[in-house]
Amino acid sequence: MKLTIRVLSILLSITMVWELSIPAIAFNASFASEPQSNALSAQSLYDLDTSIVVNGVNLPTEEYPVGSYFTDNGKGCNNHRTGVCGYASESQCNCKAYYNGVCLRAVQCYGYANYLYYRCFGSLGYRHDSFRNINLGTISSGQVTVAKFKELIEKCIPGSHLRVTYYKPDGRISNHSLIIMDWNEEGFSACECNLDAKCGVFVMRRAYEEYVPTLISVDFFSAPVIEIIIDRIRDFFNELYLSITKFNIFAPSKNKSFLP
Ligand SMILES: [Zn+2]
Ligand SMILES: [Zn+2]
Repeated sequence: MKLTIRVLSILLSITMVWELSIPAIAFNASFASEPQSNALSAQSLYDLDTSIVVNGVNLPTEEYPVGSYFTDNGKGCNNHRTGVCGYASESQCNCKAYYNGVCLRAVQCYGYANYLYYRCFGSLGYRHDSFRNINLGTISSGQVTVAKFKELIEKCIPGSHLRVTYYKPDGRISNHSLIIMDWNEEGFSACECNLDAKCGVFVMRRAYEEYVPTLISVDFFSAPVIEIIIDRIRDFFNELYLSITKFNIFAPSKNKSFLP
């Protein structure tokens, strides 16, 4: 018994040291009481109150806050779907294709997601660097359910890049990229670009029950390997810590008196 307690106390102190040594991924855990719909109404698109910090980087970033445009000239694009958009060069169109000399390998929603991911984790994600990043999962066409989607979201860490195929409100099929900020039982919030087809920056809160029926598939869900491992280890020690405190192993015994 003494040995068990000793082992547990060592583990507990490791947990404490671990908690102190890892910079906290602080994020705003609050979630809107009224999750907003996927409809592209002006009211539903903006949520100025929500921001999180991932590895010291604010999401959304100060460079491109909600309501700004992720573009070369700071104004909205007016030429999407004319065939000119691309990332071969910054002069190709107004969509932003480079950040600090790094080609984002995509434009619009995908380019913005790669930019945020690069800011947070230093690489462009699973599709571009499968050594440093993993795919947390895919859901094939027609197989997306609320339960499966929720399970997938709960595997991620803030800053993960979710790529989906979905039905737009007008019924057209499209792809979209979202950088996950936080989540709870009802839904999740994300930084997103180009919901207005002009490269606008948005923070959206989406309820699973409303959002999942619009999805056709989840194409990938990129997260950095190291951060995921740290997250899992932290979860493990948190659960261990909770189970220790739950059973009051360190609580002083009420039956014994230490007085002579
Ligand atoms: Zn463009
Ligand atoms: Zn654009």
